Amino acid sequence: MEPHLERLLHLQELVSEIEDLNRKLSTIPSRSQDLEQSLARHRADVAKAKDELANQQKERRNREGDLQSIEAKIVKYQAQLMEVKTNKEYTAMLHEIEVVKSEQDAVDTKILQAMEAVDILETEIKRKESSLAEEAKRVVGAQAALQSEREVLESRRGTLEVERRETEAQIPSELVAEFIRVSRSRGGLAVARVVDGLCQGCSVRIQPRIVQQVRRNEEIFRCDSCKRFLYYLEEKRAEPPAGHQA
Ligand SMILES: [Zn+2]
Repeated sequence: MEPHLERLLHLQELVSEIEDLNRKLSTIPSRSQDLEQSLARHRADVAKAKDELANQQKERRNREGDLQSIEAKIVKYQAQLMEVKTNKEYTAMLHEIEVVKSEQDAVDTKILQAMEAVDILETEIKRKESSLAEEAKRVVGAQAALQSEREVLESRRGTLEVERRETEAQIPSELVAEFIRVSRSRGGLAVARVVDGLCQGCSVRIQPRIVQQVRRNEEIFRCDSCKRFLYYLEEKRAEPPAGHQA
């Protein structure tokens, strides 16, 4: 193969792999963020249940305070009951006591409900906290794995960048400039294989006379249509179309 063509082909392989590494590297920040968000959701879940617990505990304390004043009222009314002078006053006082006792029942029920809610929430918080602890452990592991994935990718990219500069240095600068220009305008692919007389970059048919010359790989040819550098490879195709004769 013409030496510069071979270098351009190698340069293309390097550039493609670097691009691939860049794509993989670019997913890492959002994957890391997803992990942190999941952890934050677990934390918020625990915090919400704890808030709810505090509300129910406060509700219980408040109702217990209510209960004390109701009980004081009952004691007071019962004392007054002994001092009433008329039947009418007596009946009215009994009625007052009945009203306060039914208030007392209602408050008792509320206290029981709050206590039940506290029990349920305490169990729930334990479960959520253990789920949070597991998630925190998973996230730490996954972040470490992401970090080492990043390091491996960056190290590989560093190696390839060096090789790319070395390869570029062996190619005339105007060819490198053309390579970069075509690569930028053609989705990162500046070198295309010719298969069955077609440019594999743009699928346009190459003139048979040119194909014959490209097959020899002795000169640098470019596709008229997409301007990519063309090369020919004798090896069998990776994925031949069904029923196709080589
Ligand atoms: Zn083409």
